[in-house]
Amino acid sequence: MSARVLVVYRESAEVQPYARAMESVGAEPVLEEARSGLTIGSCRGLLLTGGGDVDPALYGEIASPETEPPDPERDAVEAALIDEALARDLPLLGICRGMQLLNVHLGGSLVQHLPTAGRHVRRTSDRSLPAHRVVIEPGSMLASIAHQGTWGVNSRHHQAVARLASGLKVCASDPEDGTVEAIELPARRYVLAVQWHPENQASNDPEQRNLFESFAAAL
Ligand code: MN
Repeated sequence: MSARVLVVYRESAEVQPYARAMESVGAEPVLEEARSGLTIGSCRGLLLTGGGDVDPALYGEIASPETEPPDPERDAVEAALIDEALARDLPLLGICRGMQLLNVHLGGSLVQHLPTAGRHVRRTSDRSLPAHRVVIEPGSMLASIAHQGTWGVNSRHHQAVARLASGLKVCASDPEDGTVEAIELPARRYVLAVQWHPENQASNDPEQRNLFESFAAAL
């Protein structure tokens, strides 16, 4: 029987690529819209997906003009799920917003709008194609997953980690502008989060598929 993994979302139209990525590595995605009272329950891991910006109030800032309207319910539900995953030492994979919320919930902060600082404006219209490189930190868990020291990744985010939360470790960054692109929590068995969207690359990039395979293997 394949392992069930909780996949939390807000927009049902956006969740299918994550579900297909998990199915392609033999896991069973359990899709749940963010709602109060949701728990990981009998699932064996948590996948936090992309979406709207985390409420800046959670890291003690006023929203910048470019920051999207907050979704306090989703922030709170996913924060509680992070707590459950950490308490039970269940595998957690965070993607884009999921990475940002993990950092904020553990005490970090975000850059609210990268283009304001002239940073990180490269994009590709095709989500399956890389927009920039990331250098993977030697000795990290991500390095043990990767077969190469650098990956080409897509880039759809306008925010990024500013202050890194205590306990987290940067495991990949953009070598050109220093943007944090992946983080992990060494104190847990498998807590990994990436700023790009591997679910859009997994079908044509074996390294991004490795990422989902490693997550499924940890479930
Ligand atoms: Mn990027």
